[in-house]
Amino acid sequence: MSPSYQARRTKLLREMRKANVDGLLISGLANVRYLTGFTGDSSWLFLNSANCILLSDTRYETQLADECPNLDVEIRDSGSTINELTAKVVAKAKSKRVGFEAHHTTVAQHGSLGEKITAAVLVATSGLVERLREVKDKWELEQIRAAIEYAQRGIGVVRSSLRSDQTETEIRYLLEAAMRSFGATGPGFEPIVGVGPTAALPHAHAGTRCVAEHAVLLVDWGASTESGYRSDLTRVFITGKPTKQMELVYKTVLAAQQAAIKAIRPGVKCVDVDRIARGLIERAGFGKYFGHGLGHGFGLEIHEAVRVNPISEREFETGMVVTVEPGIYLPGKFGVRIEDDVLVTSDGNEVLSNLEREFDQAIVPILA
Ligand code: ZN
Ligand code: ZN
Repeated sequence: MSPSYQARRTKLLREMRKANVDGLLISGLANVRYLTGFTGDSSWLFLNSANCILLSDTRYETQLADECPNLDVEIRDSGSTINELTAKVVAKAKSKRVGFEAHHTTVAQHGSLGEKITAAVLVATSGLVERLREVKDKWELEQIRAAIEYAQRGIGVVRSSLRSDQTETEIRYLLEAAMRSFGATGPGFEPIVGVGPTAALPHAHAGTRCVAEHAVLLVDWGASTESGYRSDLTRVFITGKPTKQMELVYKTVLAAQQAAIKAIRPGVKCVDVDRIARGLIERAGFGKYFGHGLGHGFGLEIHEAVRVNPISEREFETGMVVTVEPGIYLPGKFGVRIEDDVLVTSDGNEVLSNLEREFDQAIVPILA
């Protein structure tokens, strides 16, 4: 099975008509990859109803022929800029209202493009391709399932070999190596490995704390597949004697996560699912210790549309894949976040990740 780039572009042409543009310049890297399969950078895609042209430079000629053999390619030489090449392509393609991705274009780039393009009006668009990417096709789901499997097998290695003198950084490298050994091309993002107070920082980097310093160890990690798809999971391991507070915090987070997952189905608003988890954490008295959104879409990038947070009015649709990751962070003490990957199905949802998540199962013996 392989992805149908053509079908994706046909869908995008429909979205372009709705956005009142008859051409679109796609400069977001992941968007270019999504629409063509090209994995390099510094390359833009121009699309209208009659043309689909990748604008690139000489470094990528061979790779383009290999990855997108059926695509028209315009290669600029070292004496010209991508803006000049773009202007040439746009003029030849005869589009009059050319959308550009405002969220992937700097003000300087826009200014320079505007000077070069005289045959068409530039129109700011936002999130046209990202919206398509919210709903995953069958092939993408296969990739995501593989990314989850690599991540889950990888953490198994870590879980069964925790030592008291192991540092956060050592665990991170072990985890990355383990995921690669199971087939991942690398981590989906820099893994967060935090012991005790470090775990209380939602986006901490792995540092020098040892496992033995505190009973709570938080790991937020994922794998990446060769096709570029990612997974995103978080588990907390209790490596020492748990306190009553740890147990309460852990069980509150888990209850919030499970209640939120239960509510996910097509037609339900993201904000309402966020509210279920947040309300539960607030009622337990930890409201001010849960400062981030409940979850996010992911795929070719680790954070993608859709956002599951207190302001997102988007409704879930069949085929969306999101994380559900409530957390409670007690500054200076410890933090607990539990994160799973959830596919929205026509009649509800399927939790794609299946690692143990009960409190008793989080208590992990350490070797020496
Ligand atoms: Zn995560
Ligand atoms: Zn996440």
